[in-house]
Amino acid sequence: MSIDRVILFRLATNSLLERGVRAAPPAERLAWRAAARYVAGTTAEDAVRTAHQLHERGVASSIDQFGELVRDAAEAERVAEDYLRLAGELRVLPDDAWLSVDLSHLGLDVDTGYCADKLSAVAEKLPPGRRVQVGAEDYDRADAVLECVLTAAGNGLADRIGATVQANLRRSERDLDRLVDAGVHVRLVKGAYVEPADRALPYGEPTDIAFTRLAHRLAEADASFALATHDGVLREALLAALGPRPVEQLLGVRPATLDDLVARGVPVRVYVPFGDDWFRYWMRRLAESRGS
Ligand SMILES: Cc1cc2nc3c(=O)[nH]c(=O)nc-3n(C[C@H](O)[C@H](O)[C@H](O)COP(=O)(O)OP(=O)(O)OC[C@H]3O[C@@H](n4cnc5c(N)ncnc54)[C@H](O)[C@@H]3O)c2cc1C
Repeated sequence: MSIDRVILFRLATNSLLERGVRAAPPAERLAWRAAARYVAGTTAEDAVRTAHQLHERGVASSIDQFGELVRDAAEAERVAEDYLRLAGELRVLPDDAWLSVDLSHLGLDVDTGYCADKLSAVAEKLPPGRRVQVGAEDYDRADAVLECVLTAAGNGLADRIGATVQANLRRSERDLDRLVDAGVHVRLVKGAYVEPADRALPYGEPTDIAFTRLAHRLAEADASFALATHDGVLREALLAALGPRPVEQLLGVRPATLDDLVARGVPVRVYVPFGDDWFRYWMRRLAESRGS
């Protein structure tokens, strides 16, 4: 991994930098101008509008309210209420609109059982045929995230839940098998977090090979899954080998690819984030835009 990518990842989780930039209006304006391509806006209405626009192009969406690392029970409760409202609002959106959530935003660090209950409540509130896709966070939260997803699936909600599997993590094959056995939809990604070598493969060829192997494993298991990558070579090699499979991308990343995939009949979904906490997300995307 190149040094500037590692540095940008470290900066992405540096709250001093975030506070500094956001406290200085000219700096914040500059940052927002660069971040805006990756973000629907600051309100749920902005996300709903973006989801409609994507639908008109034949592209599905997965709406996420920014936020992570909530440690305060009252704040987690507010976030859960926001998500319950969002789940209800999906009714006004096309059938292919889903939700996305990071569980550390939904109270994972407050209490795992509490978070599993809230995830189940959001899934129950969804209109039929929709899902809430759970994001994969840093390695230290992986067990708790998996536990919440499997608990919600065990509550009879497997067909309303999605999980995210990070190909770079050495544990992912095991996790993937448990998710497939539980009947949970899998969003396969390369992995956005910088983790130590005993936990994760390096970015680049080793992660790409792991991604390929996991995609084949999912296909062999006849699992419900999506290839969530902007890596055209990897995507096309897998589509050629496995046949048409859903592809997922992030809003603002390689948008021209979407029309090409739609024209070829490949189902496409775009992750549509909104909210005030866009800074860290933008820094992670900035790091990834540097490639390897
Ligand atoms: C729908 C979706 C959901 C995701 N959810 C998670 C999650 O829950 N947890 C997690 O850890 N990771 C998640 N990720 C991020 C993922 O792990 C990767 O970090 C990210 O997608 C970049 O990897 P890549 O597969 O696109 O391949 P890369 O090899 O990083 O990129 C492929 C090509 O796309 C270009 N590119 C990539 N990103 C950008 C960008 N921001 N701007 C411009 N060009 C870019 C690169 O320059 C490169 O040429 C998600 C990704 C997607 C698409």
